[in-house]
Amino acid sequence: MPVWNPSAELLPRDELRLLQVERLRRLVAYTSERVPFYRDALGRAGVTASDIRSLDDVRRLPFTVKEDLRDNYPFGLFAVPKEDLARIHASSGTTGKPTVAGYTPADLVLWGEVMARSLSMAGVTADDVVHNAYGYGLFTGGLGVHLGAERIGATVVPVSGGLTKRQVMLLEDFGATVLTCTPSYALVIAEELAEQGIDVAKRLKLRVGIFGAEPWTETMRRETEAKLGIRALNIYGLTEIIGPGVAQECEHAAGMHLFEDVFLPEIVDPDTGETLPAGEQGELVLTTLTKEAMPVIRYRTRDRTRLIQEPCTCGRTLVRMERIMGRTDDMLIVRGVNVFPQLIEQTLLSIEGLEPQYQIVVQRVELLDELEVSVEGTSALFETGADARRASLGARVTQALVEVLGVSVNVRIAEPRSLPRSEGKAKRVIDRREL
Ligand code: ADP
Ligand code: ZN
Repeated sequence: MPVWNPSAELLPRDELRLLQVERLRRLVAYTSERVPFYRDALGRAGVTASDIRSLDDVRRLPFTVKEDLRDNYPFGLFAVPKEDLARIHASSGTTGKPTVAGYTPADLVLWGEVMARSLSMAGVTADDVVHNAYGYGLFTGGLGVHLGAERIGATVVPVSGGLTKRQVMLLEDFGATVLTCTPSYALVIAEELAEQGIDVAKRLKLRVGIFGAEPWTETMRRETEAKLGIRALNIYGLTEIIGPGVAQECEHAAGMHLFEDVFLPEIVDPDTGETLPAGEQGELVLTTLTKEAMPVIRYRTRDRTRLIQEPCTCGRTLVRMERIMGRTDDMLIVRGVNVFPQLIEQTLLSIEGLEPQYQIVVQRVELLDELEVSVEGTSALFETGADARRASLGARVTQALVEVLGVSVNVRIAEPRSLPRSEGKAKRVIDRREL
């Protein structure tokens, strides 16, 4: 597989470290000159650029949290005057104001570069037709992939999300070889193909899918690969850092290579903020090393993962991050018990007879939290005479969930295709408690 930028992706690690330290030092100077928020924070921490002598010195720098971005809404953290901006994006933000990100022309070049590396890592070349079903608009997914695919010279089909029947028609008619969208939407597309009785091996040319923007599991990967007849690879990113293109899996699909020459990763204990020993699981913290419009120092992503330092068989020297195991903030507390939606998903996907479509609802009934999990069953479970089988499956799912979660749960086996579908990020957890 081609390596888009060998001088960055294959750089010996000692040279990489020198580059990172140099860039970190420049970042400290740049932000304290141009961003009042960082001037104050760095001043309080008592750090100046000349204090940055090794990579460990990053620990002396202050964290940036989502709250800081909200407090400085919309443009307070920008390091350049408005005339220098080429683009503004914003993340959905389910509560309150969205998170805003600004890009100079050079930032867009950087974004195109890391996205070109990502797509190349998945084997995309100038000969490919990229069916891009990530949402176009303020959301970074659509335009981020678009930029990278154009940089490579591939043919982009900027279809955006939604209108699944049309997606299926265009996939076939335009001969797409690459599909890019959220993993949950990939499954929606797969369902539509099955519904129409389309033999993907005969009628589609799809070879690889690049899926991200929300958590998914190995079981979902296998399922998607089988249903679409493709290789399914994981991509990671977030608006605050640049959008998609922070990390991407190579063909070995064993963790996502993180573009460390431009995004410096750390893993910290989410409670104390202390750096964790290499290889431990914790909260991913990212520093942008070269961004102009909105540089961020030690951004607390709230994403839980682990860094894999061992070299990868593909030859890239870049560290790999494991798939996201959850957010430190999406943990539910149900009757005092910590419940990770990811764990519910893993359990459901390991049980035969269930489809990877589910919804978790928490509500308060007479002062008590109630957890309800609805999951779609296969159509065979809804044929006449299947009631007993359906009930026994429900009982098995309940038992399995109670075992892993340690809290009681009501399970509902729902009819195929009855739960709400999303064109972008799936909304799987609904918390109805008014706290
Ligand atoms: P938001 O979801 O807050 O509106 P973004 O659109 O920037 O903002 O989404 C970034 C978040 O999406 C990440 O912090 C992470 O939680 C999630 N995410 C992105 N890619 C992946 C992935 N491959 N696996 C799991 N989670 C992901
Ligand atoms: Zn690799």
